Amino acid sequence: MADLKNIVILGSTGSIGRSTLDVLEHDEGRRLRAAGLAAHSSWQRLIEQAQQHRPRWVALTDPEAAARVDGQLQGTNTELWIGREGLVRMVQQPEVDTVVSAIVGAAGLESTWAALEAGKAVALANKETLVVGGSLITELARERNAPLLPVDSEHSAIFQCLRSGTPREVRRVILTSSGGPFRRKTRRDLEGVTPEQALNHPTWKMGPKITIDSATLMNKALEVIEARWLFDLTPDQIEVVVHPESIVHSMVEFVDGSVIAQLSPPDMKLPIQYALNYPDRVEGPSPRLDLTRAWNLHFEPPDRETFPCLELGFEVMRRGGTAGAALNAANEAAVSRFLEGSLAFLDIPRACRAALDHHDFDPRPSLQTLERVDAWARQEVARWVP
Ligand code: NDP
Ligand code: MG
Repeated sequence: MADLKNIVILGSTGSIGRSTLDVLEHDEGRRLRAAGLAAHSSWQRLIEQAQQHRPRWVALTDPEAAARVDGQLQGTNTELWIGREGLVRMVQQPEVDTVVSAIVGAAGLESTWAALEAGKAVALANKETLVVGGSLITELARERNAPLLPVDSEHSAIFQCLRSGTPREVRRVILTSSGGPFRRKTRRDLEGVTPEQALNHPTWKMGPKITIDSATLMNKALEVIEARWLFDLTPDQIEVVVHPESIVHSMVEFVDGSVIAQLSPPDMKLPIQYALNYPDRVEGPSPRLDLTRAWNLHFEPPDRETFPCLELGFEVMRRGGTAGAALNAANEAAVSRFLEGSLAFLDIPRACRAALDHHDFDPRPSLQTLERVDAWARQEVARWVP
């Protein structure tokens, strides 16, 4: 029988965090155990999760939210830790085996870094961490012998397909994209798009930031960069194809021309479970493909003109250095302005373009330089007038 793994979930109250807890619930303590749960301010949901899963620790990064926790954990064995240091301390605990990195945005970098530094296996949903600091993060993981396991569905698919050959046998990887809610729209159609329309994703139910990223195709841009770092690929080995059904999660082409794909209904529990049990496969809670009815799969090239964010991703992947930090921070700031109503949908790629063009580029940045570029780009976009 496999050993019980102690899991910390950073971002347990979010979409990925909750799906991870569903995977743990289905496992019934056979292989996986929630050792720690962390969120920013959703204290009520975090307390409910703690009452159900009985972790050793919970943490809230927002001290005001933490101050509202009052007595609910009394009589339990769960300790409450507060602030960003609480997250770092949690991932460093000796009994922790795997850390699920599911905080949204560059805010997830610090705790993901701490987990890798402590030599823990990291199941990575937080792609922004690799977009900002891919070179330093992958170097740290190698140095500490800390496995970096993809949770993003496309990257999990590639990770699974790669088991069909050796790294030298790989010709290219093909990331699939649903095309988002605005597939086949023109730039004109996109001019007056509202947050409500952009939040209505056709195939996936996710947190608000990634849902907007899926509508602009910035999500695919970030995933191109994520793939480059996770699988040590060269920029011309990565391609994107639109596949609206979200059944084929990605493909790998080998040198002999054989293309291996991974298929399953769109549901994040499968890639989460694969990362947590890797290299084993176990029975799980995800729905299965129904092949008793007739169905079609479609593939089409992405519309790079209507969705300029995609090109930004390829450009940033080629440039490296601080470009990822500038792109990511500008996008986070622009998406939050779009959701508040102070920026138009089509201004998101424009704001990112401006931040990329005007930032102080450094080809070999330190972590401190990346933080400085991140802060600069956020500030610029916050006051940017289109
Ligand atoms: P959600 O918005 O649903 O959840 C975000 C989580 O992060 C919440 O638990 C939130 O806590 C926490 N959080 C937010 N800000 C901070 C902060 N500053 N410090 C600590 N914790 C914070 O996001 P998703 O679950 O959709 O996405 C999480 C990550 O996974 C993203 O990087 C996304 O790109 C990636 N991903 C998501 C997929 C999906 O299907 N949802 C698919 C593939 C990748 P609180 O509730 O207290 O605010
Ligand atoms: Mg994805």
